[in-house]
Amino acid sequence: MNEFQLIQHYFKQAALSFPNKNVIQSIGDDCAELDLFDNHTLHISIDTLVEDVHFPKHANPYDIAARALCVSLSDLAAAGASPIAFTLAITLPKIDADWLSEFSNGLAYIAQKFQCPLIGGDTTKGDALIITIQVHGQCPRGASLKRSGACVGHKVYVSDVLGEGAGALKQVLASPKNSEGLAQQYFYPLPKIEYGIWLRNKASSCLDVSDGLVQDLNHICTASQVGMNVYSENIPLSDLLIKTLGKEAGLQFALSGGDDYQLAYTAQNCDQGICIGEVVVGDQVLVDGAVPSAKGFQHF
Ligand code: ADP
Ligand code: MG
Repeated sequence: MNEFQLIQHYFKQAALSFPNKNVIQSIGDDCAELDLFDNHTLHISIDTLVEDVHFPKHANPYDIAARALCVSLSDLAAAGASPIAFTLAITLPKIDADWLSEFSNGLAYIAQKFQCPLIGGDTTKGDALIITIQVHGQCPRGASLKRSGACVGHKVYVSDVLGEGAGALKQVLASPKNSEGLAQQYFYPLPKIEYGIWLRNKASSCLDVSDGLVQDLNHICTASQVGMNVYSENIPLSDLLIKTLGKEAGLQFALSGGDDYQLAYTAQNCDQGICIGEVVVGDQVLVDGAVPSAKGFQHF
């Protein structure tokens, strides 16, 4: 099988590279072509995942693919954008038909769930498995969510329980082919697309929690030039996390672990969100009145 047959067979398949109302030209030409709606803005985000840095290379290819697309789509959720389509640049050490088949099926599962087809990409040979996904989304002009905009007096919210992604890491590294239990959240951090859309006219700032709650909320503090008081007793933890790791460790993972991909946001008042604190005068996040010690994930 050569490169072109590979693209045709695994990436141009109907389950993955399906048409939607935005797609004029998909895989097969020099450029993909998208139709954009009047009075909408285009949102673009790109993420690279390197084997054994961002995922264990011996994990199921289906799970690796699902996670890669979820993680990229999560950035659209954080902006309040709805997905249009994605591109994929993949570097592979070799052509392994079974691996590629499972990988493309995992992509197709998430692509269909979020109506976000594959419209193009690049395929190269290299020593390590490296996956780069760029997602494209849209939002009515002026309605997108940003890290700036939080105001003193607003409350701080999260979309759901935290800590499972980081809490799963030990299990994921020990048995990468197991995507059950806590590892479910690690491999399938389903992007909060509908939640982000719902926040369009409600949140004053928003981001997705990828590197740890405190570190990520500090990004909102910096962009919005405010401080925050967060209360640990209000941080939502799942029963599964508490049962597996205990409440104390669970809380530490929630505060400073990564890989959650929930939304954290501020709003004047938001009935249905999980309120964990408030925006105050200052320049950083305090947890229970103190500067938290553990830092979140840092790439370098
Ligand atoms: P070019 O030489 O013009 O860059 P390529 O030969 O790299 O084109 O790719 C041929 C077509 O296949 C293009 O439409 C490209 O977008 C698509 N393609 C290549 N690799 C991938 C991939 N990994 N996923 C999806 N589409 C791909
Ligand atoms: Mg090319």
